[in-house]
Amino acid sequence: MFRPLLSLLLLATVFLTGGKAIARDKPVIVTSFSVIGDWTQVIAGKEVELVNIIPPKSEAHGFQLSPSHAKSLRKAALVVAMNPELEPWLEAWAKANPDHGKILWLYPTPETAGQAADPHAWISPPEVVAMTKKLAEAIRSIDPSIDTQITYNQYLKEINQVDSELRSLFTKLPPDQRALISQHANLGFFARHYGLKVPGTLLLSGAAESADPSARHFSELLSLIRREKIRVVVSDDGQNDAFARRLTEDAGIPPPLALSFEYLQPAGQPGDSWTSMMLNNGRRLHQALSGR
Ligand SMILES: [Zn+2]
Repeated sequence: MFRPLLSLLLLATVFLTGGKAIARDKPVIVTSFSVIGDWTQVIAGKEVELVNIIPPKSEAHGFQLSPSHAKSLRKAALVVAMNPELEPWLEAWAKANPDHGKILWLYPTPETAGQAADPHAWISPPEVVAMTKKLAEAIRSIDPSIDTQITYNQYLKEINQVDSELRSLFTKLPPDQRALISQHANLGFFARHYGLKVPGTLLLSGAAESADPSARHFSELLSLIRREKIRVVVSDDGQNDAFARRLTEDAGIPPPLALSFEYLQPAGQPGDSWTSMMLNNGRRLHQALSGR
């Protein structure tokens, strides 16, 4: 009688403490918008419960936090966002919730600390390499049993593939076909990395709101387009492009090219991951610049 009971107790002990034999609560990671949600999914896989706040096809600019989002934030083991400039609502939440409000800001990275405050760092592959490394380390620090090294290394290859395809496209462009006008100031990182120029933007503020610029700014852009022989005006997908249309019509150049570098598309559609978002938009931009 004694021995079977002991074995049973031992078995129960092994079962209860055997780590993987018991269903454990997965750590909750909250991400601010779709691009960071994608990176977290790729690197942490099913080892975490992922809650992404701003859904695909929605802008990060001008977002307002709802009570249900605040509830998710309070139970997060890790909150990941881009930069206080892009997500001021999250910085405000962190200040109001000092017990919960520890946020991993992906940008700037240690490598880029002190650079200009353009928050659109996710459209530059070298920045993405550094930011996803920071993310992988943070995920491991909340749960050392999650092996992020392998997934990070695999993702590194994907980032490099995206980068080399886009680089080979843009390096072929002649110097006089490398300039474009963007709707808001979001393409700086991309342009610097691929040797393009963005000498003007339709909106003068950093955010992609749709307030129409002044008549004076319109005529300045018009002369800029004529002087630099610019053929491409990029509008932000989903935003009001009336100003961009008037400008391209008056300049006699092709209609605005709507790109969506700002967010991912819903799952199952082209552009639903960072890699396909970069390739889709990059290829379309190259096509427009090369005049095809
Ligand atoms: Zn933007």
